[in-house]
Amino acid sequence: MRASFGLGRIAGVPVGVNWSVLVIFALIWWGLSANLFPASYPGRPVVAYVFAGLAAAVVFFLGLLAHEVSHAVVAKRNGLGVQGITLWLFGGVAELRGEARTPGAELRIAGVGPLVSLIIGAFFGVIAMVLGVAGVHGLLLGVMAWLAGINLLLALFNVLPAAPLDGGRLLRAAVWKATGDRTRASVVAARAGWVLGVVLIGLGLWRFLSGAGFGGLWLALIGWFLIGAASMEERQARMGSALRGVRVGEVMTPQPQTASGELTVADFVDNYLFAYRHTALPLTEDGRPVGLVTLDRVRGVPSDQRSSTTLEAVACRADDLVLTSPDEQLTDLLPRLSECADGRALVVANGNLVGIVSPSDISRAVQRGHLRTQVTTDH
Ligand SMILES: [Zn+2]
Repeated sequence: MRASFGLGRIAGVPVGVNWSVLVIFALIWWGLSANLFPASYPGRPVVAYVFAGLAAAVVFFLGLLAHEVSHAVVAKRNGLGVQGITLWLFGGVAELRGEARTPGAELRIAGVGPLVSLIIGAFFGVIAMVLGVAGVHGLLLGVMAWLAGINLLLALFNVLPAAPLDGGRLLRAAVWKATGDRTRASVVAARAGWVLGVVLIGLGLWRFLSGAGFGGLWLALIGWFLIGAASMEERQARMGSALRGVRVGEVMTPQPQTASGELTVADFVDNYLFAYRHTALPLTEDGRPVGLVTLDRVRGVPSDQRSSTTLEAVACRADDLVLTSPDEQLTDLLPRLSECADGRALVVANGNLVGIVSPSDISRAVQRGHLRTQVTTDH
């Protein structure tokens, strides 16, 4: 999930927003201002509904942010790095670097988010109750009651025991604690995520067909997303078990051929391409990596534009590069690999490019890892 624009840092963690969050923000704002509030509190001026809907939507997203920040803070306290927090279509994600070291750490990191949502929900619930007792029955009460309900719902949904939800992490922590087998725990949580995804799709389609409209489709969409994420987590867990303890330096292709970003695509095709054995070419400046060109990107340049296009212009740019060091654990690197560089990472030591890790390097390491596990379990 990439952030489209940044909102600054909270507790030292960069917070970003993906454009897709605007879709859900607009839907919530519209749903409250045009439907829920006018239906529950009729007879107010339109501007009052619009304002109440906006206020509720903004506070809802602040609550979502608090939920993710709590994951990030507890993760840091338990020795994990935090890449950043991104708000997007399905809420928020705190991207953690590496994995929890113990089931206890996993439990704390995953558990704090729903706990924060629960506290926020309870807080607004108490305010709504006080307002009700004091005889305030207007839109203000409506906003407070909605915020209470939505945050409680958020807490409840997130503790469903299925990856990638927080509850899936809690389930993983429990199975891990009980069996001592982290990989098995991850697979159990991922399978549960798959089941929940199927259930949500079924439920969503059923609701849609019985006239619930958009809400049903939304549920089905969340289910679809869960299945995709859960399948990926299972793959990563299996890969992780084969790669545990392996460092980047052991699997990288050392000293890859590099080029200058000023070279034109035509020059590259004429002089480098046929002698070149790899499918990605790092661009360097005085040994420092500044970009990465993949052959797919080169191929995308029409032949009449090749002599006027530089490699730099088609490269994955410096801020999209995934950089690593020879000492980093491969399992920590895997979740950071991004689409821009086609799943490749550049290995840097003392500021200089010393290697590249490609998907084929990783799959070779996985095969070796599986062999190693077989050998150790045979004895
Ligand atoms: Zn969470």
